[in-house]
Amino acid sequence: MHLLIPAAGSGRRMKAGKNKLLIELRGESLLYWNLKAVFQSREINWVGIIGQPDDKDQIMKSIKEFSNKVNWINGGETRQESVSNGLNGLPNEASKVLIHDGARCLIQPIYIDKCVSELENVDAVVLAIKVTDTIKIVNDRNYIENTPDRNNLWAAQTPQGFLVNKLKKAHELAIKNNWTVTDDASLFEMLKWPVKVIEGNSQNIKITSPIDLKIADLFLNDY
Ligand code: C5P
Repeated sequence: MHLLIPAAGSGRRMKAGKNKLLIELRGESLLYWNLKAVFQSREINWVGIIGQPDDKDQIMKSIKEFSNKVNWINGGETRQESVSNGLNGLPNEASKVLIHDGARCLIQPIYIDKCVSELENVDAVVLAIKVTDTIKIVNDRNYIENTPDRNNLWAAQTPQGFLVNKLKKAHELAIKNNWTVTDDASLFEMLKWPVKVIEGNSQNIKITSPIDLKIADLFLNDY
């Protein structure tokens, strides 16, 4: 299975002054921890890192022993553009792909394997967890418009897995129609193509702001 890691963000919300994936936890970069989990999955045999050219040297250094096992692809201005570049950087024989955000460095290999195995049966899978908060739709003036039924609400994570041809087509249509999305499953939804949800776990957080680093440090005890 081929796996692409979008890692070309700027880390603005982390206020680290550098790509947040270079921040270290227990002496290793977030990207290092991520790759450690990815390479523990027996299913993954090709990994592409999508990064900004300016970050390449630092990223490659920070991932140590994994640096000669990954393929470098230049990222774009948005996550969507980065993934699109990643798809174009896949080898021709790639028929299925997992997309896994660099910022979800606490992924456990078993969940990668679950996505791979479900992708035997369906065209698109997404790891997600049930939402525990009551979620409000709020308008621009900060007034609540409505409250969706929590029983149907899931928070999407990554990995998200797809047939390569279909995901490429979806990205082409997105460019043509000016669709902007924050994950790849959204493109399938817009096209009314089915996406299967697999229940993940709440340790698979996306490192976004400084508090997430403290939480991640606690979770690393379990690895
Ligand atoms: O900003 P956020 O954490 O939501 O980004 C999700 C993932 O997408 C991160 O791993 C980030 O590095 C990646 N990304 C990217 N290219 C961009 C912006 C974000 O690969 N231009």
